[in-house]
Amino acid sequence: MFQRYLAFHDACSACDQDFSGHQSDDMPPWLTILVTGHVLAPLILFVELELSPPVWVSYALWPSLVLVMSFLLLPRIKGAVLAFQWAKRMHGFADSGDVKESAGEKPWAAP
Ligand SMILES: [Zn+2]
Repeated sequence: MFQRYLAFHDACSACDQDFSGHQSDDMPPWLTILVTGHVLAPLILFVELELSPPVWVSYALWPSLVLVMSFLLLPRIKGAVLAFQWAKRMHGFADSGDVKESAGEKPWAAP
């Protein structure tokens, strides 16, 4: 699915699904920050308040954990956002897959 770290191929190698019109914008980084913050903030508070590690341990540990978690999560979350958009026929996938609409007809319009 990925050509490079965050760049998708133009199409799926297995089924030729077109990825070129896909738009995830800021959703993957937003979700990455949300998840990383909600996992690490309580952990940081607990460790700092209960264990009081030396300052150099805190300075080495927490930024490293934030970077590792963010770099691991970002492509996976971006893939999940693309999959969600494909499943819901959103943002670049409106005309793809087995949902065929005639030109000008809106899929959400009542029959
Ligand atoms: Zn495919």
